[in-house]
Amino acid sequence: EWAANVIKQDEIDRYLIDGDDFIDDNLIEQQLEEHRDPDPKWIREIIQKSLEIERLEPEETAALLNVEDEELLNEMKEAALEVKKKVYDNRVVTFAPLYCSNLCVNNCVYCGFRKDNTNETRKVLNMKKVKEEARNLVKMGHKRSIVVYGEHPASDADYIAESMEAIYDVKVETKHGYGSLRRVNINAAPMEIEDLKKLWDVGVGTYQVFQETYHHETYQKLHPSGPKSNYRWRLYALHRAMEAGIDDVAIGALFGLYDWKFEVMGLLYHAIDLERQFNGVGPHTISFPRLMEADGSPYTQNSKYKVEDEEFKKLITVLRLAVPYTGLIVTARETPEIRREAMQLGCTQTDASTRIGIGAYSEEYTEQEKKRQQFILGDTRDLDTVIKEFAEMGMITSFCTAGYRCGRTGDKIMNLLQEGVEGKFCKLNAVLTFREWLDDFASEETKKAGEKVIAQELEEIENDSFFTENNLLNEFKNYYERIKNGERDLYI
Ligand code: SF4
Repeated sequence: EWAANVIKQDEIDRYLIDGDDFIDDNLIEQQLEEHRDPDPKWIREIIQKSLEIERLEPEETAALLNVEDEELLNEMKEAALEVKKKVYDNRVVTFAPLYCSNLCVNNCVYCGFRKDNTNETRKVLNMKKVKEEARNLVKMGHKRSIVVYGEHPASDADYIAESMEAIYDVKVETKHGYGSLRRVNINAAPMEIEDLKKLWDVGVGTYQVFQETYHHETYQKLHPSGPKSNYRWRLYALHRAMEAGIDDVAIGALFGLYDWKFEVMGLLYHAIDLERQFNGVGPHTISFPRLMEADGSPYTQNSKYKVEDEEFKKLITVLRLAVPYTGLIVTARETPEIRREAMQLGCTQTDASTRIGIGAYSEEYTEQEKKRQQFILGDTRDLDTVIKEFAEMGMITSFCTAGYRCGRTGDKIMNLLQEGVEGKFCKLNAVLTFREWLDDFASEETKKAGEKVIAQELEEIENDSFFTENNLLNEFKNYYERIKNGERDLYI
């Protein structure tokens, strides 16, 4: 009964164009077919458009997806990294997932949490346990988390709001003052607008809903029951969120359920429709997890659409070129090698110290446990190790959450990004938060690698006239010194 009442048809209808949704399967197939053998000259023009930081059109994206020539592919990869550098410089953002529940009324055939999987050990964390999990993340040095919930009355909007408040509440003593999770993002089921407002009221960060597959027929086959079997309820989940005031939303597809080129086109159409309906504001991030083994879900072994490593790298490259302003997330599902390469193709965020068993951060944990995980991870290295690796690659890990707390979100951040201004603030705040993190949490080796990156950043800031012209250099230097002396959470 609960599940039947979840979907509000009028909340879907309001976004439909001529009664139809924005994913036209035939059109996507046709675009992919028409540009099966694209002219290299056109491809180079498209690359140039990306380098000017313009979002690509579906036809252009279809053409990029069909490039097979090695030389052209390499040009695309180089351009993808250049686009990333132009928009995000050498910054990377880290976070940790926190799974609160694995009870679910849906039956997605590829998921270990699905209702009919009797192998799974079910749990919903109470608030005491939620806090304990959050406390352990803070102790590791995390400042951001994506909190994950199954779709079930036991983890409804009230539970989600309560758990978010509990997480924001957690303060842990560190060497200097206290640490906390400063930004709580969520991955949760589609909701009605009234429920979404409850999450907005308690300070939800990014609201993430993955469509899994954009292909209508495949979607129907793989989501046989529960509210999730309604394709459009899910497709417009983020439109409703925007209407509820949550202007920071994230899309994603589970690669391996259908043709990967189709899914990239679906993600692009999703981004375009959000931009069209919400004043140019597209998704904040895009995720592209690959289908992994999940306990009690044989489908994960048998799918004929599994995405090979080379295809995976190509899809990241194309996404980077197609949506230059959108953050790209590569997760711990992937191996360390693939994650390293993904960062060089334009990814901007990743998780670390990841545990996805319910309650697993509070327990002794040596091995992954199939019976209480949604899937099996490819990389369980800790935050310190991952940050050290990034530093050795010349990247700075930013723990900045200032943009959100200063209201630089939604259309405001889009404009600032387009003017190249947001990146300047980010550069300063990345250094301030990385300084803080190195002093509070880093091992000696990571600190050594991190200091080199900081020195490089300080030199660049000193030589960039933007900071002096806008009276930011002195303020920054003052904050930097204060942080070195033990003050915390200072941002510009
Ligand atoms: Fe439930 Fe999500 Fe798993 Fe589907 S994918 S069964 S909605 S937890």
